[in-house]
Amino acid sequence: CSKAEGRNRYHFFEPRLQVEVQERKAIERDLGHAIENDELELFYQPIIDMGGHRIIGMEALVRWFSPSRGLVSPVEFIPVAERMGIIADIGKWVLNRACAQTRAWRDDGYGELTISVNLSPLELARHEDLIESVGDVLARSGLDPHQLQFEVTEGAVMDNPREAAITLGILRNQGIRIAIDDFGTGYSSLAYLKRFPVDKIKIDRSFIIDIDSSDGNAAIVRAVVFLARSFGMAVNVEGIETETQLDHIASEGVDEVQGFYFSKPVPSGEMEILLKANISGATKLPVNVSGKP
Ligand code: C2E
Ligand code: MG
Ligand code: MG
Ligand code: MG
Repeated sequence: CSKAEGRNRYHFFEPRLQVEVQERKAIERDLGHAIENDELELFYQPIIDMGGHRIIGMEALVRWFSPSRGLVSPVEFIPVAERMGIIADIGKWVLNRACAQTRAWRDDGYGELTISVNLSPLELARHEDLIESVGDVLARSGLDPHQLQFEVTEGAVMDNPREAAITLGILRNQGIRIAIDDFGTGYSSLAYLKRFPVDKIKIDRSFIIDIDSSDGNAAIVRAVVFLARSFGMAVNVEGIETETQLDHIASEGVDEVQGFYFSKPVPSGEMEILLKANISGATKLPVNVSGKP
C-alpha cells in the first residue's frame, strides 16, 4: 500500500477499517455463543488402511454453522477462537463429541475405530487443562484411550519442544496415540522428531497435489516412510483426490490414507453409512455417499 494509505491505516474513522473492526467484533460475539447455541457440528473424514482398503478410523473436523454467515470454515474461526481465548472450550466440545460418537459406533458393532482429534498449539501449551479435559472426557465416554489419537502440527511441537515432549509423553502413557499433522510444511526434521513420543507422521497434502508430475514428491514420500519406519512410526498420507495419486504412493509403504478420493469430511449420519458398507464388506472403497468427489 502507498505511503498515504500507510499513514491512514490506523485512523479510527476510516470507514472500511471501521467496518472490518465491527465485523471482527461481531464474529467474536457470535462465536462466543456458538457452543451454547448448538451451532458447532463435528464432521468425520474416513481414514483408510492401505493394506486392507478398509476404514480404520476417522479424523474429526469441526464446523460452525452460523445463522447469519452460513457454514464457516475452521481455517477462519479456529484462529479467532485462539485469539479470544476460547479455543480450549471448543477443543473440549470437539473431544467430547468425538469420543462419545466413537464409543457409540463401537457399541453399534462398527469395530474399534481410531478417532483422530486436532489440537491447537494453545491447547498443547496449556497442558494441565488439556490433560484434565482428556481424563474427564475419556471417563465420561468410556472410550478406550487406544482409540483416541491427537494431531499436533510440527510448529506446535517446535514452539516449545521441552514442554511439548512432556505433555505428549503424559498423553501417550495413557495409551493415547500422537500424530504429527501437516508434516513437511514446518521447519522441523524427522530426525529431530524422533526425540518426541510420536506414533504417526501425516504427510501434508501439498506433497500429493502434483505427485503425478513431480518425481521429487514421490521421493519425499518414500524417504519419510523410510525414516518413520526406522523410528517405529506409522505414516499417513492426506489429501488423496484421484486414483492416479493413490497409484503413485501405492508402492511406497504408506500405512493409511485419507482424502476426497475416498470421502470428504461428512456428518455423523453419512459416516455411519460408510461404516455400514465397511463392515458388510459388500462395498469396496472408495465409497462416496455424498456423490460429490
Ligand atoms: P487438518 O487437520 O490438516 O485437516 C485436513 C484438512 O484438509 C481438512 O480441512 C479436510 O477437509 C481437508 N482435506 C481432506 N482431504 C482433502 C483432499 O483430498 N483435498 C483437499 N483439498 N482437502 C482435503 P478442514 O476441515 O477445513 O480443516 C482445516 C483445518 O482446520 C485442519 O487442518 C485443522 O488444522 C483445523 N481444524 C479442523 N477441526 C479442528 C478442531 O476440531 N480443532 C482444531 N484445533 N483445529 C481444527
Ligand atoms: Mg488434522
Ligand atoms: Mg493435516
Ligand atoms: Mg492442515
